[in-house]
Formats: sequence, C-alpha cells, structure tokens
Amino acid sequence: MKTIIGNWKMNLGVRESVALARSSLLLLRGKKVAPHMVICPSTIALSEVRKVVARSGCGLGAQNVSSEEQGAFTGETSARMLFEVGATHVIIGHSERRHLFGETDEGVNAKMLKALEHNLTPIVCVGETKEERTAGHVKKVILHQLGTAFKTVRPKFSETLFVAYEPVWAIGTGETPSVQEIVEVHTYIREILGELFPTAPETAFAVLYGGSVNGENAYSFLREKEIDGLLVGGASVKIHQLKEIVDAACEVLIAQS
Ligand code: PEP
Repeated sequence: MKTIIGNWKMNLGVRESVALARSSLLLLRGKKVAPHMVICPSTIALSEVRKVVARSGCGLGAQNVSSEEQGAFTGETSARMLFEVGATHVIIGHSERRHLFGETDEGVNAKMLKALEHNLTPIVCVGETKEERTAGHVKKVILHQLGTAFKTVRPKFSETLFVAYEPVWAIGTGETPSVQEIVEVHTYIREILGELFPTAPETAFAVLYGGSVNGENAYSFLREKEIDGLLVGGASVKIHQLKEIVDAACEVLIAQS
C-alpha cells in the first residue's frame, strides 16, 4: 500500500476546503488500485470536510493537537475535540510547528500520548536542518527525535502509525534529497522503530517522505519499497499536481501488484 497525505497548512477556508476535498476524492474514483489518502485541512474546516470524506475510505487529519486534556489553554484544540469533529489522524511535530512555534521533542511525545489516548493516528514528522545535515548529524537527529517522540508510547498496533521523514531544508523549497539518501534514512528509521518496538508487526509503521514533492518527482519516490508514501504540502492544494501524484501512486501500485 502507498499513502498520500495532503497537508493543506493555513491555506484554505471552509468552503475552499470542502471543494478541494471533493476534487481530491474524484481523483480516486474508478481506479482499480489507488493509494490510501489522508487530507489535513485547517481545524475550522474539519467538521465540514468530514461530511465529504465520510464512507470514502479517505482519512481526515488535523495539523496539530494540544498535549493537554482540557482546561485553560487559550487557542488550543484537544485530541478529544478533534476526534469529536471526525478527525482520524493528526500531524505531530511538523517542522513549522517546531521551528516557528517552538515545539520540542518532549512536546511531540506528550501530543503523541494524547492522540493515541483519543484514537487519533499520529503522523509524526522528523527531519534535520541544513546545518545538521552539513555537520553529518542526520542519523543522530532522527534517533533523538524518534526516541523522544515514542518514549513511553504503547501503540496497540491495530492501526498503522505514520512517521514522515521531512528534512527541514526540503520543505517548500523545491530542493529534495536524492532518492538514495531518502531510502537510507527510511531504512534507518525502520531500524530505530524495530529496536523501540521489537514485537511490532511489519505493518505497524509506515514511513513516508515529505519535502517539495510534486507531480514530477512523486513517481521516483513512490517506486521505492522503503518509501510507503508521501506527505505533500504545497502540491496537495493544487489539484493538477495532486492528480499527477495520485496517478504516479496508482502506476507504482499496478506495477507492484
Ligand atoms: C509539508 O508541509 O509537510 C511539506 C512537505 O511541504 P511541501 O510539500 O510544500 O514541501
């Protein structure tokens, strides 16, 4: 299986989100084999988009969640609230949250625990900055991010949990690592997860790539068996780009079936 997750960021209002959700679902219609899709609109659009994706098999993700259960946390949205409005997934530790809003690995861990407690499937983002890459610290950074994010986490393994490798320098820049470099990091992520969860089944985790994915490069990533799918930002709100990404996933799935 391949999964395509669209992170719509803070780009669309409710009406636009509903329209894009409809068009995104149409891309899957009539396909004999199709990727699993998850769309992540802004929080205010979740309940309306839920009506569009209901019974479609498409997941509905939030872009952030509070690490707190409830209380005096102005502006925050709890995992229970997200679940109530129909979210099935939640992005945690996106680099924009880490770098613009000061989220820490410990905060990511607390959010993971809350998400799982309220039956939301986490999509945990990890990845190095340009400086960390230049210094040769990619593996060290990923190890620390994953080790902390999953600390004391006890997944039920009934759902696949997502880890997205998103190098910070590749997000929204048009730059990407080479396919070989991504495969190497994904293999390492799987090794770490294997050590953290030695009894987890093969299907317990899906490792996705994210960072400047578009219609042109999607196929080269998706054809790799180590890349279980893509977390797509900018291109996921451009329907012609998303169509090319979905078509690339279908082509890969047909070739691999
Ligand atoms: C993202 O926001 O997760 C992302 C990968 O963005 P982009 O595809 O625009 O680089």
